[in-house]
Amino acid sequence: MDFSSKLLENAVYEMSQLPGIGKRTALRLVLHLLKQPAEQTARLSGSLEQLRNTVRFCSNCYNISDTEICEICASPKRDRSLVCVVEDIRDVMAIENTSQFNGLYHVLGGKISPMEGVGPQELNIAPLIDKAKGGEIKELIFALSPTMEGDTTNFYMYKRLEGLDIRTSTIARGIAVGDELEYADEVTLGRSILNRIPFEGSLKS
Ligand SMILES: [Zn+2]
Repeated sequence: MDFSSKLLENAVYEMSQLPGIGKRTALRLVLHLLKQPAEQTARLSGSLEQLRNTVRFCSNCYNISDTEICEICASPKRDRSLVCVVEDIRDVMAIENTSQFNGLYHVLGGKISPMEGVGPQELNIAPLIDKAKGGEIKELIFALSPTMEGDTTNFYMYKRLEGLDIRTSTIARGIAVGDELEYADEVTLGRSILNRIPFEGSLKS
């Protein structure tokens, strides 16, 4: 792509670094911004900068939060004995949207993937095991995507939890094998949470 302006080229390049945005889409977005009042670009860049500089993660569940403890963890209405383990923040949002779950979450920050060089120590697994040893948790729901990496991560956590008096379950496989959790519709995801099965049962299938 030939640009008549280095400024334009730079802006298009930065925009095209975002996932799902190719060079052509990046150019369209940048030209769109140029047609809008300058304040809109200022608001966009300002909100992103503020998010980046001040974002915090809940010290209990690792969800994005404006405060030390997120709203979900701080709520007296939530069942603290039930914890749903998810890959990332989008999964918390997806499950919250189903209104079917009243426990707390634990965000791992990804899943074990030797191919991508992600080991257990890169994820928030150690703090989960520490929490589990605390005694307050009665059941952990593994709600990772049903992919090979998700299954590997489930099995690793399951092994680390051995000997603790905690029930483990996985969400029912209403979701197609290989699907990413965030793309599931709310009904399927909600049912999967309600019909969760003991993790041992999922190993035999
Ligand atoms: Zn939290």
